[in-house]
Amino acid sequence: MLKILKHIIKRGLQHIAANFGRHQHATGEPELAILMYHRILPKHDTRTQLEEPGMMVTPETFTMHMQLLKQQFTIISLSQWIKNKNSDEKLPARCIAITFDDGWADNYEFAFPVLKKLAIPATIFLVSDMIGTTQQFWPERLAQLLASIATSCPDKWQLPALQWITGVKTSYIFNHLPPDQEQLSEIIAQLKKLTDEDIHTRINNIEETLQLKNKTPPDLLNWQQMLEMCASGFIEAGSHTCHHIRLNNKQPEDIQLTEILQSKNQIEQHLAQPVTTFCYPNGDFSDYAIKLVEQHYDCAVTTNADWNTIKTNPYLLHRIGLHEDISADKTAFLARLSSWM
Ligand SMILES: [Zn+2]
Repeated sequence: MLKILKHIIKRGLQHIAANFGRHQHATGEPELAILMYHRILPKHDTRTQLEEPGMMVTPETFTMHMQLLKQQFTIISLSQWIKNKNSDEKLPARCIAITFDDGWADNYEFAFPVLKKLAIPATIFLVSDMIGTTQQFWPERLAQLLASIATSCPDKWQLPALQWITGVKTSYIFNHLPPDQEQLSEIIAQLKKLTDEDIHTRINNIEETLQLKNKTPPDLLNWQQMLEMCASGFIEAGSHTCHHIRLNNKQPEDIQLTEILQSKNQIEQHLAQPVTTFCYPNGDFSDYAIKLVEQHYDCAVTTNADWNTIKTNPYLLHRIGLHEDISADKTAFLARLSSWM
């Protein structure tokens, strides 16, 4: 009963947000909504099993988003909007820019054909050292590891080397069943309190102790796919650091410097096109990181959900994150675009 009531209230709010949100009423000055996608994966694709729900949209939902945006807004690449703004060129009242984080191979497989067909530009933020490799981001590494332990050696949950994971407060009970997608998100959110380096070291330690080495096919884009997409004229690359390092105050400055500068150089060398846009991993930024990015890029995006105006700091641009659960139908998608929900 409570669930039904919650659903009714949510739908009501979505209708209000979809019909009266900021995207429906231009304020007079040019505005830009930057949409943030990660993975585009079919519902039953095996790759969805070890992924957080907040990371995915199905190809059907993505196509619906793009068709709707094309009908209602001017879609422009992020770098172009910034260029026009900087040169005082006239900007349409309400623009949309499409972005993808991390450089997943599924972007090539499922998003690129849609973008090309509808002639929609987009930016893919690449993690330069991981492109074309079988390396994994730590949340996916961890998800695989937890699934392996649960299904092959659940008695090992007791080991001291695992206490940093088993000790976190979540709804998952460590047993012979792997955590589901929601429980996985809870565990990952808790572990983000540790530094990236610490997490990698601890995962390495478990893999060595239990002799559980992940074997995965490449899940990320390679340079050839990027070259093909860039050649279409619809896709451009931005930087998302070299190793997906969070650029917060805990991160030594020399590492931040390398991650911000070297990633730009690597991508420019591989793709022979200028890289002018930057994306802070996990939406984390130190004052030092902002200062460096200001010196080497034209703009940078965060994960703070809102629209941008020409007065928004171009190195702290807002973005509206999209995933399947909150955008699978038109009303929900438009509500999300309002940035109220
Ligand atoms: Zn990322």
